[in-house]
Amino acid sequence: MNGARERIESARPFTHRARFSLMESFNPCLDCGICCTHFRISFYWAEADDAPGGFVPAHMTEKLNHTMRCMKGSNEVPRRCSALSGEVGKQVACTIYENRPTPCREFPVYFEDGTPNPKCDELRATIGLPPLPQAPLPRAA
Ligand code: SF4
Ligand code: SF4
Repeated sequence: MNGARERIESARPFTHRARFSLMESFNPCLDCGICCTHFRISFYWAEADDAPGGFVPAHMTEKLNHTMRCMKGSNEVPRRCSALSGEVGKQVACTIYENRPTPCREFPVYFEDGTPNPKCDELRATIGLPPLPQAPLPRAA
């Protein structure tokens, strides 16, 4: 789906740390990154760090309208967020991981029961990556 980032409203525990820091030993995003080249990464303008309390580097964003901004590179074709480093499908990283905008934080790799996000699998297939395995859920203490 081109244009706006799809949001999976049923955000689950993995979402807060998903994408580039899912787990130290298991992180399917590190050799993927396709979603960072697929969606327009748009968010409320005040998430950028030139607004009080903002955190996303403003110089890596561009204005969409009076209330919204997006990540540079994500509103054009070919699409690629300017914060993404590396080669998609090989080895990637988010260079602003700690300060990434809300849509990146909310896009789940896995749902609560460990089921992979089907949108990830759909996107991964476009670059020849296999479907995500079931998540290795944390062991009980
Ligand atoms: S498409 Fe899914 S698996 Fe690939 S980088 Fe994005 S969140 Fe991670
Ligand atoms: S800010 Fe980071 S996680 Fe979000 S689209 Fe850009 S590279 Fe991907």
